[in-house]
Amino acid sequence: MADTGKLHREKHVKYFKRMLQIIPGQFASLDTHRMTIAYFALSGLDLLGALHEVEKEKQAIIEWIYSLQVVPNSSGTNLLHCGFRGSSTLGHSFDTKKSQQQNIAYDSGHVTMSYTALACLLILGDDLSRVNRPAVAAGLRSLQQEDGSFSCVPEGSETDMRFVYCACCVSHMLNDWSGMNKEKTISYILNSISYEGGVGQGPGGEAHGGPTFCSIASLFLMDELDMSLTLQQKEKLKRWCIFRQQSGFQGRPNKPVDTCYSFWIGATLQLLGVLDLTNFLCSRTFILSTQSAITGGLAKWPDISPDPLHTYLGICGLALMGEPGLAAVHPALNITQRAADHLFNLQKVWEDGS
Ligand SMILES: [Zn+2]
Repeated sequence: MADTGKLHREKHVKYFKRMLQIIPGQFASLDTHRMTIAYFALSGLDLLGALHEVEKEKQAIIEWIYSLQVVPNSSGTNLLHCGFRGSSTLGHSFDTKKSQQQNIAYDSGHVTMSYTALACLLILGDDLSRVNRPAVAAGLRSLQQEDGSFSCVPEGSETDMRFVYCACCVSHMLNDWSGMNKEKTISYILNSISYEGGVGQGPGGEAHGGPTFCSIASLFLMDELDMSLTLQQKEKLKRWCIFRQQSGFQGRPNKPVDTCYSFWIGATLQLLGVLDLTNFLCSRTFILSTQSAITGGLAKWPDISPDPLHTYLGICGLALMGEPGLAAVHPALNITQRAADHLFNLQKVWEDGS
């Protein structure tokens, strides 16, 4: 039953804790992407001010994440495969004590898993000292295409704005941009701006809320948002984003509203400094209508089963609008401001030490 009025905070805390314990059968196909589910759950608990609820499990989760890091073998022949895996479904089996040198075929980093692994480590308070930063950067370099876009794995895959964003997050978090050619990345983003004002997955694509966020957040993380877009491009972009508000936000014109776009579009508007031009009451009412008061969790629409992505992004959307009881969110890195501040403190230490 759809429920508006208040955020069922305790239920959502339980929902995220459950997602950390076991993946429900309906999400079994996501087994190779378990890192992303851990990220939704951990960052969600952080937003809800409930990370202490997994205090006892924190260290075990950190060890699990590091066990999924693909590092260079003794001859360095797998350097382009370095980064983080999403789970031990493929490649070497789960073993936190096994030598990281024993990589086998199918052990390849995935750029989204590298981003979410680093995000999880930061959320958990880790100092990233066990991250092989040069190897992660080398892995990124192997993913960038001639047109500036990124694939997600070195074996080849679709290439689009999602992976551009993940590559920018990884580079920003590691304070190391040697994993990409920034000029090519910016060129790919600018070539993907549609006549509508928003941004598509690639050149010639229809403007869409997801890649619009990915591209604008990427420019922000590269410190290029102010300089790379013309005033007219910025104004058209703001207009396109603001017009995505119906009750909640939709991802494209004439599509139904969906909880996740309260973050994808909301965070873009926040980065552009105009989120307050939208109707917060309307957005809040829609987001709350998609939560389950029984199992906890939020769905893309009212009265359907919740999932971790929409639960997390719906709560993020509320946090952007200043919902009481929720932590502030860093709109470009998509982690709490608290976790981002932890990162910036680490980066200061790295800079002082170099
Ligand atoms: Zn959605």
